[in-house]
Amino acid sequence: MTAKILILPGDGIGPEVIDQARLVLDWFCDQRGLDVAVSEGLYGLPAYAAHGALISEETLADTVAADAVLFGATGGPGYDDIPTEVRRRGSLLRIRRELGVYTNLRPITGYPALAGAVSLKPETVRGVDIVVVRELNGGIYFGQPRGISGTEGTEVGTNTLTYATGEIERIARAAFALARGRSGRLTSVDKSNVLETSALWRRVVNRIGRDEYPDVALDHILVDNCAMQLVRAPRQFDVLLADNMFGDILSDIGGAIAGSLGMLPSASLGASEAGRQAALYEPVHGSAPDITGQGIANPLGAILSLAMAFRHTLQQPDDADLLEAAVDTALQAGARTPDIAADGEQAGGTADMGAAVLAALAAGDGG
Ligand code: NAD
Repeated sequence: MTAKILILPGDGIGPEVIDQARLVLDWFCDQRGLDVAVSEGLYGLPAYAAHGALISEETLADTVAADAVLFGATGGPGYDDIPTEVRRRGSLLRIRRELGVYTNLRPITGYPALAGAVSLKPETVRGVDIVVVRELNGGIYFGQPRGISGTEGTEVGTNTLTYATGEIERIARAAFALARGRSGRLTSVDKSNVLETSALWRRVVNRIGRDEYPDVALDHILVDNCAMQLVRAPRQFDVLLADNMFGDILSDIGGAIAGSLGMLPSASLGASEAGRQAALYEPVHGSAPDITGQGIANPLGAILSLAMAFRHTLQQPDDADLLEAAVDTALQAGARTPDIAADGEQAGGTADMGAAVLAALAAGDGG
């Protein structure tokens, strides 16, 4: 059956990187017979300019109806002028929640070709292959009450961190299942020495592991130590399970391992129901206002997010492998955007990187 893919380029560098992902998607449709119906929608500042909302109700309904959403980025200086309520109603957090995508997979890969460009030692990042499993629908980004109250000078800011047992169980199962299919090791991240939510998190993860995944070796690490270990010796980790905020922050460290935030893809998945699973694919980075419009954004996070869509939604693991291999080939051949260029290496722009990936695909080197 033809799969429906909705593309929301969004703000800032979103449209720039998504353009390249779209060309790659078109290549797979033309050359590999990928059976998808692709449509595009407005999100963010372009949508606000068009109809006073960051996402129209119609487009929001389209995201729910799509088999997969490919998203660019959100945010930027223009948001300061948008009323808080409008922002909240159209926020990416709301879209993720509407879709019910609670499992956020964020792979972190050490690329040998970029050893000279990363600030960590080449021997530290060589062979790194981690997936951060981040809980995406709960925790402090959603908890109520929230807000700033009081009068100027003595205001109080409030956010609330809660996790219910069911929320922890479902993300733990997703992480254990992933670990079972990989190395059979899972490391759960928390701050259980200080936070009650983390104490419950650890208790529930232990129970799910003991009762349902006894074959997976489980250990626990405090989030502060985990941040340090990710920089010191990342190869010790295979699958990392973390709550919404810890996973958000820890996975950005992956940018230092992969060479740049622009290298990191992600998949956000919902529950599998009747053979269907809501899915949102997006690069980990934001709208990067500092480089927007310059044509130098790295599109590989977006392109690799597409590979994740091939694997998780379209069930085309061969196409996913092919695309990931083409990215490797392009990097080995010296394709660089400025964020991943070592001293003395020549960097091209966003379109050059997209063209290098397409050239690797066309040459069959990707296989
Ligand atoms: P950012 O990810 O936009 O940028 C951080 C740094 O990384 C910048 O120096 C930027 O130039 C660089 N960078 C990011 N992506 C890159 C790419 N593809 N190629 C080359 N360099 C890249 O984070 P920020 O600056 O903290 O936030 C900017 C805006 O993006 C904010 O409004 C923030 O709320 C939003 N944001 C959105 C998302 C998202 O869309 N999922 C994620 C994070 C931040």
